[in-house]
Amino acid sequence: MNLDATQFLVAAAAGVGGLLVAWAATVPLLRYKEQRAKSRRDHRHRDDAATVVPAVAVLRHARCGACRHDCAATDVAPLVGWRTCRTCGAPAGRWSAGYQLSTAVACAVTVWSFWGAAGLVPVLLLALVVTAVSLVDARLHLIPTRLVQLGLVLGGASIVVASVAVGEPWAIVRAVVGALLVSGFLFVMLVVTRGGIGFGDVRLGLLLGLYLGWLDLRLALYALVVGSLVGVLTGLVGAVLKERSAGRGLRTALTGRSAAFAFGPSLAVGTLLALWCRHWLLG
Ligand SMILES: [Zn+2]
Repeated sequence: MNLDATQFLVAAAAGVGGLLVAWAATVPLLRYKEQRAKSRRDHRHRDDAATVVPAVAVLRHARCGACRHDCAATDVAPLVGWRTCRTCGAPAGRWSAGYQLSTAVACAVTVWSFWGAAGLVPVLLLALVVTAVSLVDARLHLIPTRLVQLGLVLGGASIVVASVAVGEPWAIVRAVVGALLVSGFLFVMLVVTRGGIGFGDVRLGLLLGLYLGWLDLRLALYALVVGSLVGVLTGLVGAVLKERSAGRGLRTALTGRSAAFAFGPSLAVGTLLALWCRHWLLG
């Protein structure tokens, strides 16, 4: 069997592995914050969750929106759980499908892109953490601090091990510089936009910058540019769709409350794209 065939098979296996990990994590992630009292922030985003999300994931409950059936792992199984609620047959929410599919794709592309490279295991860990963070942020407009901390510990440790293993300990310093640069930039954005992005994004910037700086500091710039573009585009499209479904005009879409969007997933997409396309971007 030649190298490309092996690489393809392992990447496909990583995709299946990612799908299974995401399946196991789906219900806990959909229940994120379920036990806590609702804050003012939750109430502000309640309408968004009710109108944008049609079914399974009613805010912070892994429940069917139609029959209120509390989802178990079997209800969100890949493929069978993506279409309809098993209890009442209502269309299922798109969250579990979107999350499980993007995790599978992220794992497969990471293995393909980092085949034989020191970054393989660290970036796989990053892919698993940022897809989970993106699911929670997209639903609740909230970046789960614990998950980001877990990513920093696992990512930091694997980056140190990988750097020492390939005899490039200085890459660790570059990683720290990258973390400070990206989160510093996001902090400036937080101040300039007066809360247009959240402090959770600044914290997430530490994790993303750690990886970007580790591989090449220039990648941080690409990730931020791509992430911001994706963020602005999805934010605008989302706001316009929502205002149109509410029968209001374009002007309210651009100035109103619905212009608020989750920035975390866009930053994650920008970072993963920059890491995957590093050879092409850096020439
Ligand atoms: Zn149902």
